[in-house]
Amino acid sequence: MSQEPPKILYVEDNVVNRLLVRRVLTHAGYTVLEAGDGLSGIEIAQREKPDLILMDIMIPGMDGYQVTTKLKSLPELTNTPIVALTAKAMEGDRERALIAGCDGYIPKPIDVDGLLLRVTEFLGGRQEEIEGGVEERLILQQAYSQELVSHLEEKVRELQKANAELRRTDELKSRFISIAAHELKTPLTVIQGYLTMLEDTEEPNAKLAPSLRAPIEGMSKGVERFNAIVEEMLDITRIEGGTLELHRDLVVVKDAMMAAVRKLEPAARKRGLAINLSPMDGLPLLRADARRLQQVCFNLLSNAIKYTPDGGQINISTRVLEGGDMAYYSKETNDISGRFIEIVFEDTGIGIDLEEQERIFGRFYEVRDPDLHSTSKTRFLGGGLGLGLAIARGVAEAHGGFLWAESAGCDEKRCPGSRFHVLFPLEDSQS
Ligand code: ADP
Repeated sequence: MSQEPPKILYVEDNVVNRLLVRRVLTHAGYTVLEAGDGLSGIEIAQREKPDLILMDIMIPGMDGYQVTTKLKSLPELTNTPIVALTAKAMEGDRERALIAGCDGYIPKPIDVDGLLLRVTEFLGGRQEEIEGGVEERLILQQAYSQELVSHLEEKVRELQKANAELRRTDELKSRFISIAAHELKTPLTVIQGYLTMLEDTEEPNAKLAPSLRAPIEGMSKGVERFNAIVEEMLDITRIEGGTLELHRDLVVVKDAMMAAVRKLEPAARKRGLAINLSPMDGLPLLRADARRLQQVCFNLLSNAIKYTPDGGQINISTRVLEGGDMAYYSKETNDISGRFIEIVFEDTGIGIDLEEQERIFGRFYEVRDPDLHSTSKTRFLGGGLGLGLAIARGVAEAHGGFLWAESAGCDEKRCPGSRFHVLFPLEDSQS
């Protein structure tokens, strides 16, 4: 026999009852584990493999009968005695508990001496039986199965309702973003107009007082940033509503890339980050919206800068992908045919956890604490609105392309880096 005191798991939502039972059993030399609901009961039982489980029946979520049935279906717990505890004390409770898989039944309120005696008995192998014959047992089993099905149906309905509610809330959120962006755009345009007028006062009689130059420049920068935020909100609204308009032209990928690099390189240089571009001269022209392609490059490059520590490397490479090469990727591009231009942004940054690699493309999604939020597009770890990747993917997809992330994981010390692949279809494969 093991020297360790027997371990007893008590599944009960009522804290006072838990306290009482813990005291009694601990005093008698047992080790007591506690779970406040069925799901954590299952988790603890699987992990700790107790010698006995005391199961309250009236617990939230899955009730004690259902939890017992589940526990008894697990090979590692089939032989663990489970004893039902219930204050319900209605006729048939004992039988239902035994049918569900319990080995015995203790009615509540708990009688301290009785509890200790029963615990010793069940630990010693006591097993209660249902009175009556095979037929009686069959009837009870059928009733229990029907109860389980009704419960399942009820839960499915609840889930459907909760899902519909979530969808409605999500729609309201989308509508709010759209209305807020449109409402903000109007006064912003007015402010922008007046600022331009002030900046352009070049006539000799209307020279701007030198003391006003710095405040106006500051206001201008603020308005520019404000405008960028409103534009991001409008873009996400357009992408979600399928109303993103593309002004396609024949585009030189290198030009779009260089426009993004030019904007971001000074900040990257300040942080000691090297942006290395592979040669792009031989690439075919892309039929795409030049401004949007530049936006994708800007968003991906600014992320590479933000999530790479000072002194790191950002490599941007491009190539033409032939249909057959798609098999190289295990992602959704597997069965895609046609020719694409692929741009890969590879950084030596903090990387992205496997389970986050798809989530980061969701609206307003930030892996890190939103309190670390920053308006800067280049500060290390300065999280933005959480729209950059959603917009970049939306733009790529509106062109018939793809965008996804790859990384060995997130580690701010080791910096495993990330790779973002963006694919734009070449003219001959666009519909
Ligand atoms: P944000 O404005 O917060 O940067 P994005 O939509 O551009 O929003 O990115 C969403 C999240 O994806 C970021 O908060 C960050 O956690 C993660 N992420 C994006 N790019 C990278 C990258 N190159 N390396 C590591 N994490 C990244």
